[in-house]
Amino acid sequence: MQIVFIGPPGAGKGTQSVRLAEHLGVPHLSTGEMLRRACRQKSEIGIQAAGAMDSGQLVQDNLVEEIVFERLGRPDCVLGCILDGFPRTVPQAAALDQWLLGQGRPLSGALELRVSKDLLIERLSSRGREDDDRGTVVERLRQYDELTHPLLEYYGNRQLLQVIEGSGTQDEVFDRIRGVVAEMNSTSS
Ligand code: ADP
Repeated sequence: MQIVFIGPPGAGKGTQSVRLAEHLGVPHLSTGEMLRRACRQKSEIGIQAAGAMDSGQLVQDNLVEEIVFERLGRPDCVLGCILDGFPRTVPQAAALDQWLLGQGRPLSGALELRVSKDLLIERLSSRGREDDDRGTVVERLRQYDELTHPLLEYYGNRQLLQVIEGSGTQDEVFDRIRGVVAEMNSTSS
């Protein structure tokens, strides 16, 4: 199953997508992690992505796409993977569709982890990651509203979107995800 995870920073997308990948036995691909690694290694892509990442802005589509499609093309992703943090813009979603089409691997669905703004700000301010200072947090939420929110319509129009309520304990949220994915699996072949 190829599944895309969508949710604002602080929604718990990272934790839940790792759990889902383990549950399904497929790789978990986090573009945030891949980009942070590229920055640490000072690779060509890392050097070009660093400025945007430090200021809470999105990295250019072509850079992210290069990293993601290289990874998706490896053999361990053939039977499925969980994409955490990609796509984040409509052009990225269109590029992913095209890529998957070329591979004969249709997307199983997109999961939106939905959390209220108050809860997000509360969670983000207590997380303590390097790019989590207040200004950056506000900028990342703004970018989400402007660039990532339209993805919900993109996947909604294709009957691929499933909304998951992201409040409650991690186990409660994961139970909801498991239910939705089981349903997706039974209707997808
Ligand atoms: P969060 O979901 O908390 O914002 P991530 O670890 O997913 O954190 O991403 C961290 C940063 O990496 C983002 O703020 C952005 O600069 C960059 N990034 C990650 N994924 C993408 C993507 N698909 N497109 C553009 N930039 C991305």
